[in-house]
Order: sequence, then structure tokens, then C-alpha cells
Amino acid sequence: MKSEFLLKRASDDVPHEECGIIGVVAKDPSVHVSQTIFQGLMALQHRGQEAAGISIVDANKTIHTYKQEGLVFEALTQEVLSKLWGNVGIGHVRYGTAGSGDILNAQPFHYETTQAPPFSIAFNGNITNYPILKEQLKSKGRIFLTNGDTEVIANLLASNHLVTENWVENLTFTTRLLDGAFSLILLTNEGDIYIYRSGNKPLCIGIVKSMNTELYIVASESCAITSLGGTLIRDVEPGEIVHVHQDHFFHQEILIPVQPHHCIFEYVYFARGDSIIDKRSVHRTREQLGRILAREEKSKFSNAIVVPVPDSGRSAALGYASESDIPYDEGLMKNRYVFRSFIAPSQAERMNLVRMKLNAVATIIKDKEVILFDDSIVRGTTMTRIVRLLREAGAIKVHVRSSSPPIADPCFYGVDFPSRQELIFGRKILLSHNYEEAIELIRKEIGADSLQYLSIKGLIKAINLPEKDLCLACLNGKYWFNHEKTKQFLTDGRI
Ligand code: SF4
Repeated sequence: MKSEFLLKRASDDVPHEECGIIGVVAKDPSVHVSQTIFQGLMALQHRGQEAAGISIVDANKTIHTYKQEGLVFEALTQEVLSKLWGNVGIGHVRYGTAGSGDILNAQPFHYETTQAPPFSIAFNGNITNYPILKEQLKSKGRIFLTNGDTEVIANLLASNHLVTENWVENLTFTTRLLDGAFSLILLTNEGDIYIYRSGNKPLCIGIVKSMNTELYIVASESCAITSLGGTLIRDVEPGEIVHVHQDHFFHQEILIPVQPHHCIFEYVYFARGDSIIDKRSVHRTREQLGRILAREEKSKFSNAIVVPVPDSGRSAALGYASESDIPYDEGLMKNRYVFRSFIAPSQAERMNLVRMKLNAVATIIKDKEVILFDDSIVRGTTMTRIVRLLREAGAIKVHVRSSSPPIADPCFYGVDFPSRQELIFGRKILLSHNYEEAIELIRKEIGADSLQYLSIKGLIKAINLPEKDLCLACLNGKYWFNHEKTKQFLTDGRI
């Protein structure tokens, strides 16, 4: 069953991750962690640019939460951070879409109720059955202020606190009710952090050792730990609840048996190249995507160069160039000073945006067959424009290569792809009789001389995780909703 009501539309021509999360505990209670959380969020900025927030517990067991729209440095100013004192806290960056990007849906989600002590949640993902849960809670008189799924989780945690005051038991039960893909960090007013990973979004733990104290870090990606000068310890296991406290470091509380569905787009596009996810270097995995695509190559070239779309196509292009022994060069230059304010929603404005953002280097491109590399092709509008730019700069031929297989369907697990009709492959496959015909239609539309995508088999090989542990739903339409499980748990009447 597909949850059409959960579909959100991307406002530009790339997929978007929806959130990045971090939690920090300083062993020394006199150390304040707001600045550390700020720096960690800066490293996670690529996961969400619409809003940022922070929750800190002070010495009086009061949670102070501040969140604001904007990039991390805009939302969490030094003035804000200087007023947030405490050695335990969590942070969040959010990517919001039209209608849901307002401040009410920004996080951390601070929750105060008579049913439970105050707590705060930083959440990354999507709960596909949250409308069912929300209706159930509403029927019990619960009132909701937001249209997001995090408030539903907060309500469930508060309800379940009436049954058990043990947060691990509570999380164990609550997470079993949730169908979907998520990682979450829960902060209590006692200064405890509990983390849970369902096995689709990344989550890892690490440590920063400074002269004065040790900082225990949990984060969506290891780049947040290493950019703080810390060391990655390990990934959180799918189904694992870890308790983080100033007195006992990281403590595994329970490992709930779950079937992981790791999002392949973390490796293809979302995660930062310097992150390690599930023991795999993201950069090296991307290189491998390119290498395998080189082995799958169907065309022959002469006087060719491999050119990446900066920055998204670089690692895979390097792997392809090295494997195929074709020179690599930076034939496209990016204007680093085109900021978000230039992002415009209409098709015409998107076309202009490409020219503002990228320029072709004629001295590199002229008289060459260009093998143009990107991580994915979403709507196809950006790729069409880039192909045209390269031809104008003197390329004899332009061969487009994508290091991900074609995206055929939307994502219901927290990634903002457009609808099937807006996805170029989704649209063409509806018009054509088979895969080859759809690819040919896309090639014509983007104006390339040849077009090749990495195969799904090649993608799985490059990531090197068992196929059953991967989510490939946006590529093959095999969604893994399990709403029956929810109904089964709802019948025991705890919420
Ligand atoms: S549907 Fe695609 S983007 Fe969404 S979680 Fe699965 S692999 Fe990732």
C-alpha cells in the first residue's frame, strides 16, 4: 500500500534528505555543550537547510529548546548559544517542503505534558503509519499542534510513560508501533539521552577527548564526530537502543530484532563523502559505483574526458575514469556564491539557476567527447541544461552517465523526491514498453549522444551489503510498509 498523502514535492532538481540529528553528553557536568552541538550541526548542514534547533538540559533539570528557520549559523546565533547552559543536549537540522517547513515542524520537538516528565526529540525519517496512530490518539482526546509525525511519537512516548517510567521499555514498545524509516534521539530532563535506529537512516556514536573532558557524541553521520576532532566508535545497530549518560558512556540497553532497509541514496548522494556508514566509506563506495559502471559501459569513445557535475558526480567519476583509463578533468565550474535565496520554484527559473550555478570550461571541453557524470537524474531539467552548456563550450559529443539506477518512484521514507509523473524515468517508463525504450526517450529529451545508468545489480555490488538489507523502493517499486504490525499492536489498548 502506498501512502499518497505522505508524498511531498521537491522544489528543485535534486533529491533531498529531510533531517540530520546530533546528541552530545559532556562527562564533566560543568562543561557546556551548545557550541559543540552547533559545530556538529554545521557538519550535518547538507542533510537539511530549512531550520535548525537545539535542546539543552540545565543543572535544574529544565530543558531549554530554541529553533529557528534558516541555516545553522543563521538560526543558532552566538547570542542564542551563549544563553544555553548545560552538559547534555541534542540538535537538529531540517529540510522542509512547502506547507510543512514552518517553525512548528522544526525540531528538536520539546514536549511537556502531565503524563510524563518533559522531554525533547530529534528525529530523522518518516513514519508511514502516523495518520493511523494520530487518529487513534485523537480518539482518546489528544490534541495536535503540528502536521508532522514527530508529535505523534512524542504523544505515544507520553502515553506509554503512564504504563512504564522506564524509558527503555517505553521506547521498545513505542518503536514497535512505528512503521517507517527513522533514527531518533530522545533527551530527558534528567540529562539522559536514548537513541534508536530502525535501520534505514544512519546513526553512529563517537567520542571527542579534549584536555578537560570527554564528549560522547551520537550523530546521523560520522562527519559530525570527526569534524569535532573526535573518533567514530561504531554505527548504532538496526533495532538497537543505546543509553548515553555522563556517568557510564554508551550503554546498549536492548537490540530489538528488526529487518534493516538501508537507504541506498545515503551512499549515492545524501551523506557527506567523508562519512563512514555501516563500516563503509561513502567516498570509496561512490568511487566503486563509478568503477562498476565503467565495467558495464556499452559505448566506445575517442578523445574522451570524464567530467563530473560538481560536487555530486565527483567521486563516482573518479572511479569511472580510473577503471576505464580515460582522463578525468573538471570541465564544469561551480559558482560557490549562489545561495539559497536564488532557488526558485518555477521551471523557467530553474533553467536560469543552472547557468548561474555552473559554467563549462571551454579550454577543457572543446573538441572532446565528454563523459558527463552525476549521481542521479531526477526531473532531467538540470541535466538538459548542462548538456547544452557543454555543447556550447565545444564538446563534440556528450555522453551522460548516472551512478545510480533510474529513479522510478517516489520515496515514502523521508526523502523528498517528486511524484512519478515529475521523475523523468517515472514519466518515460509509463510512455514506453520497456527499460531500453524509456532510456532512449530520456536521452532524446536531455539531448545527450548516449545515456547509461548503473544497474541495480551493480549498485548492490558497490555498496556491498546483502540485497535484503537495502531499500531499493524508489528504484524497483518494492515498498516495505507493514501497517498490519501496527494494527496488531494497537489492539492491546495501550494507547
Ligand atoms: S525509497 Fe529510495 S530514497 Fe527512499 S529510503 Fe528507499 S532507497 Fe532511500
